[in-house]
Amino acid sequence: MRKCPMSKRAVSYFAAVVVVVSLLAQTGSLQEQYRESASKLIAAALVDQDAMEKLSFLCDRIGNRLSGSAALEHAVAWAAAQMKADGLSNVATPHVKVPHWVRGNESASVLEPVNRPLTILGLGGSVGTPKKGITAEVVPVSGFEDLEKRGRAGVEGKIVLFNVPYEGYNRTVVFRTAGPSRAARLGAVAALVRSITPLSLQSPHTGALEYADGFPKIPAAAVTIEDALLIQRLADSGNTVTAHLEMEAHMLPDADSANVIGEIPGRERPDEIVVIGGHLDSWDVGAGAQDDGSGCITALEAAHLIHELGFRPRRTLRVVFWTNEENGGAGGEAYRAWVGDAVKNHVAAIEMDGGAEKPIGFGLSANGDLSSILARLREIGGLLGPIDAASVQPGGGGADIAPIMTDGVPGLALRTVGTHYFDWHHSRADTVDKVNLGDLRANIAAMAVMAYVLADMPTPLRQTPSSTR
Ligand SMILES: [Zn+2]
Repeated sequence: MRKCPMSKRAVSYFAAVVVVVSLLAQTGSLQEQYRESASKLIAAALVDQDAMEKLSFLCDRIGNRLSGSAALEHAVAWAAAQMKADGLSNVATPHVKVPHWVRGNESASVLEPVNRPLTILGLGGSVGTPKKGITAEVVPVSGFEDLEKRGRAGVEGKIVLFNVPYEGYNRTVVFRTAGPSRAARLGAVAALVRSITPLSLQSPHTGALEYADGFPKIPAAAVTIEDALLIQRLADSGNTVTAHLEMEAHMLPDADSANVIGEIPGRERPDEIVVIGGHLDSWDVGAGAQDDGSGCITALEAAHLIHELGFRPRRTLRVVFWTNEENGGAGGEAYRAWVGDAVKNHVAAIEMDGGAEKPIGFGLSANGDLSSILARLREIGGLLGPIDAASVQPGGGGADIAPIMTDGVPGLALRTVGTHYFDWHHSRADTVDKVNLGDLRANIAAMAVMAYVLADMPTPLRQTPSSTR
């Protein structure tokens, strides 16, 4: 028989068609398979009342929850009881040792050329001042380059003010974390940091600093944008600005805390695990409502609704409230140690720690080639079209799941519009009134659908549907 000259090309063409058609079929099947359950989860989430009640209790009745505080341990006990009440199984509170920093009283004021009180919040982890406080000239700098240019001659014995405009959290936060030691290296006696926020109504924002080894630990506090600009104007007009700073901040011996864990055990593959959660600790001001009560309660309520609707996923869905995210990360490390070898059975982890504004979808970080995982997550994301939260983009994870992501667990973050999160973040304004009920419900819907499908879909996230186990 005569060999057809087109046969090779035709074969590869048809092979390509088969692949595309089968991919489409799988896309269709995953979406078809879960459309009804996703609709039920979304409908239940959008009328949910329990989550706001739980979040209000956590924020209004228990309050802010810094590592080492009695309130955090109250929150641990409450959360464990709430997980049981919400139908979760295997509720556990594995012990975690956490750093214990105490703010104490603190105050600051400008003494010269005018007398003005400053509104400050000491930075988490800061040392205190001597009892009589520190009185010194304040040198405003516009960044590290400006600081280095002034050198030791310009800042020794002085208080350095990092007056750096907000250019997004990740870009600007370095002045809070590294600024104090950078100033101490040149002989500064204290550091003030313009609050890391786009918006200020005379509200200071705290957060952790990181002292570098080998340099003196100097006291450091956040000032409001208004106060940073006041000091800048006074200095720009040619005056020497003198300020006084008093801080009682100090570290105590490490304290006892715990992660809080509860599960919906898998019906078929209980050893395979999908983790969802947030961090239970907060700073010691405000109420830790958006950061990160909203993440914890969203994850808990997602699991609660899955349980209430009688859905029992193939794999285990595990809710984790990590402790000590804000000033140490001991909870995330302890969770990694607690799971031991079972880390390899973790199919995915979703951390929500960006507040509960209107959700837009999820971000993903994972080792190796993201494209196949992204494609599968986008199939699931398609189920969130009805609430406009279908986006799945590279860039996810979270501080508490970072230790298990190092072992190869794909890490997701629930993403929101993020319009106001950093207006409230780490400030007295992070209270439950900032959480909009409709947005909270939509976050629960997004979390419930993503978590349920990840825990239930026939082939785990990292495997392609055609490969067999
Ligand atoms: Zn947080």
